Amino acid sequence: MIPVTKPFLPSQEEYNKYLSAIWERQWLTNNGPLVNELELRLKDYLKVKHLLYVSNGTLALQIAIKALDLKGEIITTPFSFSATTGSIVWEGCEPVFVDIDADTLNIDPTSIEAAITPKTTAILATHVYGNACDINSIDSIAKKYNLKVIYDAAHCFGVKYKGQSIFNFGDISTTSFHATKLFHTIEGGALVTNSPELTYKMSYLRSFGNISPEEFAGVGTNAKNSEFHAAMGLCVLERIDQILNVRKVICERYNLMLSTLNAKRIKIQSECSWNHSYFPIIFETEEALLKALKLLNDNKVYPRRYFYPSLNTLPFLKSQEMPIAESVSKRILCLPLYHTLNIEEVDFIARLLLRAQNN
Ligand SMILES: *Cc1c(COP(=O)(O)O)cnc(C)c1O
Repeated sequence: MIPVTKPFLPSQEEYNKYLSAIWERQWLTNNGPLVNELELRLKDYLKVKHLLYVSNGTLALQIAIKALDLKGEIITTPFSFSATTGSIVWEGCEPVFVDIDADTLNIDPTSIEAAITPKTTAILATHVYGNACDINSIDSIAKKYNLKVIYDAAHCFGVKYKGQSIFNFGDISTTSFHATKLFHTIEGGALVTNSPELTYKMSYLRSFGNISPEEFAGVGTNAKNSEFHAAMGLCVLERIDQILNVRKVICERYNLMLSTLNAKRIKIQSECSWNHSYFPIIFETEEALLKALKLLNDNKVYPRRYFYPSLNTLPFLKSQEMPIAESVSKRILCLPLYHTLNIEEVDFIARLLLRAQNN
C-alpha cells in the first residue's frame, strides 16, 4: 500500500532520550523546557524574529485573527484547506473569496481590489503547496487600503522567499506542524511575526489571557503545546535537511517520468525557493483524474484529491462563484510523497498514470 504521505518518525531511542528527561523533571506541559528549546531552535533554523509554538495550525489562524482585532470581511482564497475559511467564520468574520491564478494556484492579486469594500479589514492568503503568493502585490494593496495581511503558511516549512524565511512576510504568518506536514510535532503549529507587540498579545491569547499566574491581560484560549509534542519536533528538526533533500529527489524523478503526461504542474513563483512539500498534478478533465485515480487505487496507490472541494462551495457559506478554483479543485491530485518513498515506487506510480492516459 502506498499512501499519499507518511509521517517522519525518529528512532524510538532518540525519542526516549527526551522521554526520560520528561520523567525526571515531571514537567509535562505549560511552557516547559522542551517547548522553549523547540521555539529557540526553530527561530534559529528559520531565522525569524518571534515564533510562538501552539497546539495546531487552526488555533494559530484563530489567534492571528484575534490578535489583529479583525472584524467584518476578510478577503481569502477558495483554494486552501478548510481551516483557512473555517477560522475566519469561527472568529465571527465573513470570508470574501477572490479566485486564484490558474498557474500558481494562489490568490490572484489582480482581482483583490474589486473585492474590497468599506467592511474589509484583512487579506488571509495561503501559500498553496509551499509556493509563495504574489507577496509584493498583496502587500502593496494592503498598504493602499490599510488592510492587515495574514499568510497561512501551513505548507511552507523551509521555504525561502527573496532569500529569507517566507514566515517573515505579512503581519503574521501561521503554520501547522501536523503529522501530515513536512516538519511535524504530531500535532502543533506556530505563529510568526516581526512585531514584539503582536508577540506579546499572541502569547497571552495562547494561554488563557494570562501574563503571569495571577494576572490577565485579556480574554484568551488554550493553544499551548506539550513537552511530548515538542520532543517529537526536536527529533524531526534534527533530520529536516535530509527530509527536504529526499523530497526534492522524488519530485525530480516524478517530473522526469511524467514528462509525457497530459497534466500540468504548478508554476513556482520566481524568488521562491520551494520545499517540495507536495506533488500536485492538474489533469485536463475530471474524468481523466477519476480514471487515473481508479487505476492507482486498484494497484493500492492512494493519492489525495487535495484541495477538494473548492472552499467557496462549503455548505455553511452563501454562494460565491469561483470558476478557476472550482475547476482546478476537480482536476488536481497530489501524488504520494514522503521520505521513505523509493524510486521504484515513484516509477511504478508514474507508469500507472501513463497507462491510465493511454488506455
Ligand atoms: C494543515 C493545514 C491547516 C491546519 O493545520 P492543523 O495543524 O491541522 O490545524 C491550515 N491551513 C492549511 C493550508 C493546512 O494545510
